[in-house]
Amino acid sequence: MTPLPKKKQTKRTSAARKLVLKIKGGSLIVCKSCGKLKLPHKACRACGFYREEK
Ligand SMILES: [Zn+2]
Repeated sequence: MTPLPKKKQTKRTSAARKLVLKIKGGSLIVCKSCGKLKLPHKACRACGFYREEK
């Protein structure tokens, strides 16, 4: 086993992993516009809706 990764991780890969961690961390909220899960403080990927209401 080598301590170094075989391939250099691309920005895209690490970004995707971070996204997965965020999702698994349970920090998703339900979009109030379309009802899909989305990241808080980010526009909805499905409908582009962005609004935080309490
Ligand atoms: Zn939405």
